[in-house]
Amino acid sequence: MITKSDYLKFLTCPEYFWFHKNKPEVLDTKELNEFELELVKSGQEVEAWGRKLFPSGVLVESGQEQAVADTKKLIDEGKRVIFQATFEAEGLYVMVDMLEWDENNQYWIINEAKGSTCDKEGESKNKKLHIYDAGFQYIVLNLAGYKVGKVNLLELNKEYVKKGEINPLQLITKTDITEKVHELEPEINENITGMRILMDQDNEPKLCDCIYKSRSNHCPAFAYLYPDMPEYSVHDITLIGNSPRRLEGMVEGGYLSIYDVPEDFELSKKQRIHVDVTQTGITINKSEEIKKFLDEIKYPFYYLDYETYPTAVPIYEGCRPYMQIPFQYSLHIQREPGGKYEHLEFLAEEGDENPMKALVESLKEAIGDEGSIIVWNKKFEKKCNENIGEVFPEYTEEMQKLNERLFDLMEVFQKNLYAHKDFEGKYSIKKVLPIFDPKLSYKELNIRDGSMAMNSWKKMVFEELNEVEKEQIKKDLLEYCKLDTWAMVRIYEELLNII
Ligand code: SF4
Repeated sequence: MITKSDYLKFLTCPEYFWFHKNKPEVLDTKELNEFELELVKSGQEVEAWGRKLFPSGVLVESGQEQAVADTKKLIDEGKRVIFQATFEAEGLYVMVDMLEWDENNQYWIINEAKGSTCDKEGESKNKKLHIYDAGFQYIVLNLAGYKVGKVNLLELNKEYVKKGEINPLQLITKTDITEKVHELEPEINENITGMRILMDQDNEPKLCDCIYKSRSNHCPAFAYLYPDMPEYSVHDITLIGNSPRRLEGMVEGGYLSIYDVPEDFELSKKQRIHVDVTQTGITINKSEEIKKFLDEIKYPFYYLDYETYPTAVPIYEGCRPYMQIPFQYSLHIQREPGGKYEHLEFLAEEGDENPMKALVESLKEAIGDEGSIIVWNKKFEKKCNENIGEVFPEYTEEMQKLNERLFDLMEVFQKNLYAHKDFEGKYSIKKVLPIFDPKLSYKELNIRDGSMAMNSWKKMVFEELNEVEKEQIKKDLLEYCKLDTWAMVRIYEELLNII
């Protein structure tokens, strides 16, 4: 049996599809991480809102073979809108999010809901993949003997701003992709033939294309297919995914470990720094440039970090889909050189009101009118401040002023003014901190990254928890965010010691 999700795997990579169907143990599929789980939930949320566009819809609740039989029964009974309508034909199996009967035209309409956002023209990031996905369903329904005349894609309208009750007609954009499905139909049919042949092949793949792709593309089969590949390989060179010809040159030249790359092999400046620092172990410390850069920081110093909660479907007034909503900040303050550090923080403990307002009220008291606001990756904090100004226009000016004071400490590392071999070509605070203060670590914390913080907050404010559980999450969140700002303090202090 080939399902729609098998097909999407095939589109990503035929070898992956083969392992998935014939030797799944190689893929060693781990549980989804918090971020991936959130993506799945977002898709489900959009689908739930999409269903509201079809008030007469009936849901097929069963699965597998039973779902096929139940769908047929509902159709025979004259049901005209079916959610999760399930079909099987010639070894292909699909579930249609919302199947709709068009009485005037006497055909079925496939409505495929996605968690992505699209613009006014119905353009979205992964649109082509969505068309293959819906096209596969179209073919299976036709094979099963159902006439499909139209295929729609349902996505979140990225311009949507919540005002009062959510109107699904405004929230969801329906794009007619029938023509595009027809264009891709021959290719999808070829893919189906390809999948059938591949699936029945006993010979397992011996090689795959990821040998020429950066680490982020690799699935667990990579280690299985290339058991001799060094753990820290040329696939890990910084931004190597943007230089496929260079990667190919290294692989073809037999330079597989980062340590093998010859001195004269042409790389970008950043890539060369990464390779040289790794091979020689010599740290780059452009102390004059770092000093000049750090001299721009003005007292009082405010080390700031936000934690945020974006939702696919906005839950607060004035918010858009996936808007980052800051619900927490940590602020370490040093008012003068050598001065003591003060720590202030805010955490919204309820979720019924937009936490931005209380956060900004607290922050504006704490952060004063002058002095640098030191952050790690200022794009993020800047965007959060803009979001606050957008949702609460009374703070727009204030937020603009805060943005003018932002100083991005990450740039020291992003621009390779300081580069250490243990950064492994990266510059996240979690990579940099251990070099400057090995005693400080995120590993011991219950919350160790932004996705965990987001999910923990959601749990704390929206789920039924007892006081002990709530207190624990609160403590974990405060501890995590505080470490982010304290880490910046320590990195700054240690930078001063070495320049
Ligand atoms: S490592 Fe890449 S090319 Fe190889 S099987 Fe996995 S996804 Fe496919």
